Amino acid sequence: MSQIATRTSEGEKITSDLLDAVEERNPHEPEFIQAVRGVLRSIHPVLAKREDLREHRIFERLVEPERVIQFRVPWQDDSGELHINRGWRVQFSSALGPYKGGLRFHPSVNLSVLKFLGFEQIFKNALTMLPLGGGKGGCDLDPKGLSDHEIMRFCQSLMSELYRHIGADTDVPAGDINVGAREIGYLFGQYKRLSNRFDGVITGKGDGWGGSKLRPEATGYGLIYFAATMLEDHGDTLKGKRCLVSGAGNVSQYAVKKLIEMDAKVIAMSDSSGYIVAEDGLTIDQVEAIMHVKNEQRDSLESFATDEGDVEFHQREKGSDGTSGFWSIEADCVFPCATQNEVGKSEAKAMLDSGVKLIAEGANMPLNAEAMELVRESEMIVGPAKAANAGGVAVSGLEMSQNSQRQHWSREDVDERLKSIMRTIHDRCTEAAEAYEVKDTYVDGANIAGFLRVAEAMKSQGLV
Ligand code: NDP
Repeated sequence: MSQIATRTSEGEKITSDLLDAVEERNPHEPEFIQAVRGVLRSIHPVLAKREDLREHRIFERLVEPERVIQFRVPWQDDSGELHINRGWRVQFSSALGPYKGGLRFHPSVNLSVLKFLGFEQIFKNALTMLPLGGGKGGCDLDPKGLSDHEIMRFCQSLMSELYRHIGADTDVPAGDINVGAREIGYLFGQYKRLSNRFDGVITGKGDGWGGSKLRPEATGYGLIYFAATMLEDHGDTLKGKRCLVSGAGNVSQYAVKKLIEMDAKVIAMSDSSGYIVAEDGLTIDQVEAIMHVKNEQRDSLESFATDEGDVEFHQREKGSDGTSGFWSIEADCVFPCATQNEVGKSEAKAMLDSGVKLIAEGANMPLNAEAMELVRESEMIVGPAKAANAGGVAVSGLEMSQNSQRQHWSREDVDERLKSIMRTIHDRCTEAAEAYEVKDTYVDGANIAGFLRVAEAMKSQGLV
């Protein structure tokens, strides 16, 4: 048997034992186990080669969050009725810097979801090469239909507990699903009131009060810079490509804008009400109108489509995930930017059948395990979330630097740094894949490069 083959089978045995242990210890956390399995599938050659990392039990330590905080979030709605939600902050790893990761408000939030997000965040943040640890938090609130006042009271209640666990050098939350500029403002206001400090404790702040230029755009723009670099590596460009972008929130909106700017055609977008199709590609004016509907009116894509003659709306199919029609639309490049596991095996198969060349993940873990397996076995170029959507946390890291230096960089300056970080992430993936001779350049490369940076830091810092 060759040296590589021996190492592969040793590595597979090691990772399968590690996965068994994680499954046994976290039996009710399917999303977390899915994320751990994804990383282990890539790093077996590293574990086989690096006895030192095994001896230091780096992976066993890494799958246990350093700290999990769970708390009650009581709040009152506009009619005076009381509600009690559950909030969490998962402080996963501080090996590389203060815990860093967003807050999500969604009824599907639970510890398993936050642990998967926090775990992924460790490697994503490592790939940016910035001094950022990994964390994630959120609440099982369904904010749909709540007034501004209700959202404010809710954010104030959540921060009344969270403020004692975070800090500019300890843990720096940001936004995520349903946590945008409005929520960050209310959360920061309450933090400031309770702590009597105006510091960089949260990122995604408003441009006029400590926020970085280009933070709202960063995840979507970074995603498209990363996709363009992957295509460039394969001698191709985004120009004229038919693209599908799921979701219609922060990540999707700016991904779509950047795609149009790069002369790609965005044929379809979706939200929880259904999806829209524009056969000739959406225009910038239409995207601005979508942003107004989603961000200001807080309404659905359906309401946007009723005023647009050349855009068709397809209602979400009841009782299903409702995304199969969307992913069957003929396309060259697809960008899932809504939520985890939004693409199943049949949707992945539909993409392969329609000849999709590239998939870049804007959302975290948008492909379920079977879908990921299918695309990894195909010729498709796959940009995994921890590399492709790292632009948001990267600019959050830049916001932290600006806050600590009391500086405010220009839009052009931040954009240049974002491009350079996305290029660095790309190159770190390809170099790691080459060094360990793995098949899947970006998926395996991202996991290996991210893991190695965290592992070396953990080894140096002793048994903590
Ligand atoms: P938003 O809340 O701004 O947007 C989420 C969008 O997805 C909404 O339009 C929502 O619909 C839609 N959506 C949710 N579930 C579904 C579904 N099953 N099918 C179709 N559409 C759906 O969140 P973000 O854009 O911030 O986040 C999206 C993803 O990107 C998440 O996975 C997040 O973790 C990830 N991400 C975000 C970053 C950021 O900087 N914001 C950074 C890195 C990753 P509706 O409007 O109807 O609710």
